[in-house]
Amino acid sequence: MSEVINIEEIFGEDVFNDKAMREKLPKKIYEELKKTMSEGGEISSVVADSVAHAMKEWAIEKGATHYTHWFQPLTGVTAEKHDSFISAPKPDGRVIMEFSGKELIKGEPDASSFPSGGLRATFEARGYTAWDCTSPAFVRHDAAGATLCIPTAFCSYTGEALDKKTPLLRSMQALNTQTIRLLRLLGNTTSKSAVPSVGPEQEYFLVDKNKYLKRKDLIFTGRTLFGAMPPKGQELEDHYFGTIRERVAAFMKDVNIELWKLGVSSKTQHNEVAPAQHELAPIYAQCNIAVDNNQLMMEMLKKVANRHGLTCLLHEKPFAGVNGSGKHDNWSLVTDDGINLLNPGKYPHENTVFLVTLMSVLAGVNKHGDLLRESAANPGNDHRLGADEAPPAIISVFLGDQLEDIVEQIIKNGSATSSVKAERLATGVDTLPDFKKDTTDRNRTSPFAFTGNKFEFRSVGSGDSVASPNIVLNTIVAEQFSDISDELEKVAEDKREEKINEIICRLATENQKIIFNGDGYSEEWVKEAERRGLPNLKTMVDAIPALTTDKAVALFEKFGVFTRAELESREEIQYEAYAKQLNIEARTMIDLASKHLIPAIIRYTTRLADSINKIKSAVPDCDVSVQTELLIETSDKLSASKVALSKLIEVSDIASAMTPGREQAVYYKDVVKEAMADLRRPIDELEMIVDKDLWPMPSYGDLIFEV
Ligand code: ADP
Ligand code: MG
Repeated sequence: MSEVINIEEIFGEDVFNDKAMREKLPKKIYEELKKTMSEGGEISSVVADSVAHAMKEWAIEKGATHYTHWFQPLTGVTAEKHDSFISAPKPDGRVIMEFSGKELIKGEPDASSFPSGGLRATFEARGYTAWDCTSPAFVRHDAAGATLCIPTAFCSYTGEALDKKTPLLRSMQALNTQTIRLLRLLGNTTSKSAVPSVGPEQEYFLVDKNKYLKRKDLIFTGRTLFGAMPPKGQELEDHYFGTIRERVAAFMKDVNIELWKLGVSSKTQHNEVAPAQHELAPIYAQCNIAVDNNQLMMEMLKKVANRHGLTCLLHEKPFAGVNGSGKHDNWSLVTDDGINLLNPGKYPHENTVFLVTLMSVLAGVNKHGDLLRESAANPGNDHRLGADEAPPAIISVFLGDQLEDIVEQIIKNGSATSSVKAERLATGVDTLPDFKKDTTDRNRTSPFAFTGNKFEFRSVGSGDSVASPNIVLNTIVAEQFSDISDELEKVAEDKREEKINEIICRLATENQKIIFNGDGYSEEWVKEAERRGLPNLKTMVDAIPALTTDKAVALFEKFGVFTRAELESREEIQYEAYAKQLNIEARTMIDLASKHLIPAIIRYTTRLADSINKIKSAVPDCDVSVQTELLIETSDKLSASKVALSKLIEVSDIASAMTPGREQAVYYKDVVKEAMADLRRPIDELEMIVDKDLWPMPSYGDLIFEV
C-alpha cells in the first residue's frame, strides 16, 4: 500500500494564509489587513507591527530563524537577502527575537549589483523592497534551516520599478479600474473589483545529475551547445502522456508535497512530447500570486530534482532537434462576485460582456502583438519560437469554430443571431459515456488561443517569469476597456446598448486580421501574415525595440504601468542580457572545443593511424581502406572544426569589446551565433564517427533516454 498523504492537512501549512492570519491576528487587525488587501491603501504602523509580530511567532514555530524580503529583480529569477530575527544583545548578553512592522513593510537591500538599465546611478545604490500584502508570506525549509519569505516589490530611491512585481501590480490596478468602469457602463452594479486569473503550465526536462555534471555546456548555459541526435528521437511520440517512469514519479510526488505545503495548488502532471520532458500545472490563481507561485514551482523543481540525483532543465531548448519547453500562460478576468468575463456561457452571441471582452482582447493583441512577442523573448526562446515547433514568432489569435462563426456573423450583419452548438461525442461504443464535446478542437500551433473560458498565451519561455506577459495582457486590455468606456460615456444612457453593439462590430471588423485558425507552423502562414501586415519578430533582438515605440510608451504611461525611463531601462537590460548570454555560450563552446572535443578527436585519429600502421606492418597486403577513409574524413572535419573555432574566437573577441547596447546584441545575433553554428556542425558530425569511449561528454541518447 502507498503511504497516505493528507493533502488537506499539508496544503498551505508553510504559508501565512488566511487561516493562519485568522488564528494569529487580533480580530480588528485581521479585518483591517483584509480590507487593505482587497481595496488597497496604506497599512498603518499599528497594523504592520501587529502583523509582523504574529508572522514572526508563526514562523518561529515552524523553525524559522531568519526572514527575507523575497523579490523579483529584472534578472528573471528571485532574489533574497536574509536577516535573522535576533536583535542586538541586551546588556546581560541575552538576545530576543524581533521583527517590527517597519521590517515587514520595507527592506533596503544594496541594489547596486542588480540590473537597472541606467535607472539608478551607480553612486546611488539604494533600493527598497516593499511588502506585497496581497501575496502571502511563507516559510521555506532547506539545509540551512527555515526562512520566513515575504513577497516584496523592489524599487529605486526615486520610486522607479527595478523589478517585475511592481509593474505587474500596477497593471492589475489599471485593469481593475477600467474593468469596473466598463462594467458599470454596461449596467453591472454589483461587482466591486476584477482581477486576472492566471494558470501557467510549466514544461521542463529531467536528466541524470551525474551525466549533467559531465556537460559543461549544460552547467554554464542551461543547454547543450554540441550534440548529435540519437538514432531514436521523439518521432515515435511514445513519450507524450506515456506512463511516468518510477524515478520520475517519485520526484513528482516530492515536488507536489513541497508545493502543496507552500500553498501552490500543483494539479496536473504528465510526460511531454520529448523524451525526458514533463509538465506540471497548478490550479489558476490571482495574477500576482500565480506569478510568485510559478517562481516557487521552478525553484522547487530544481531543488527536489537535486535530491533525487536528477537535474531539472528549465531552458527553452536544452537539446537541438528535440522539442523545446515553454510555459502556457492561461489568462482570464474574474470579478469579486465570480463573473469570468471570458466565459462565453451557453449563448455567446447574446453575451455582451463576453463579446466586448473578447473584442478587446483581439484589438489589444492586434495593436500590441509586438509587445506580447517581446514579453516572451529571451535568448533561449529564440531556439524555439518559430523554429518548426511550439508557437511561431508571429502573434495571431485562435478562436475556434464557434467564436469565429460569431465574429463572421457580426462583421457581416452587424450582430450575431446564433451560436454553433457543441456536438455530442460519438465513439460508436455503447458502454462508453456519451458527452458533449468542446465547441472547438485544440489548435496546438497557435501562440494565443481561446480555450473555453480563458486565453492561453503559449509563447512564454519555460525558464522565464510569467510577469512580463501578464503585465502586457493586463495593460492592453485595460487600454481597450478604457477607450470603449470613453465612447460609451459620451452617449446617453438609453443609447448605450446600441453603441456597444456598434463598437463590438467595429472592433471585430478592424481586428479580423489577427484571427488565424490554420496551421501556424506552415510556410504559407508566414507569407499570409506578411500580407496581413502582422509583425514577424524572429528573435529577441528583433523584438526588443517594441518596448519603447511611441505606441508602447503611450500605453504604459497612460495606465501608470511603466514610465518612459523604466521602459528604456528594460530595453537596455534586454540587450545586455542577450549579449551576456551569447557571450557565455560562445566562450563555453570555445572552451569545450579546444580543451575537450578537439583533443578527443585527435586521440581518435591517432588511434586510427596507429591501427593502420600496425595492420600494415603485420600484414603488408591487408586492405586498410576503411580505416584510411575514416582517417581522411575525420581529419578533414577536424580541420574544418579548427577553422571554425578560430573564427568563433575572433568574432567573440570583437563582440565582447563592443559597447553594450543594440549594436552589440545585433552583432552577437548575426555574426557570433552563426560562427557558433559553424563550429557545431563538423563537431556534431564527428561525434557520430569517433569511438564512444573517447567522446568526453554523455551523448543526447545518454541524457534523454536514460533518466
Ligand atoms: P489544458 O488542457 O490546456 O492543459 P487545463 O484545463 O489543464 O488546460 O488548464 C491549464 C491551466 O489553465 C491550469 O493551470 C488551469 O488552472 C488554468 N485555467 C483553467 N481555467 C482558467 C481560467 N478561467 N483562467 C485562468 N486560468 C485557467
Ligand atoms: Mg493548456
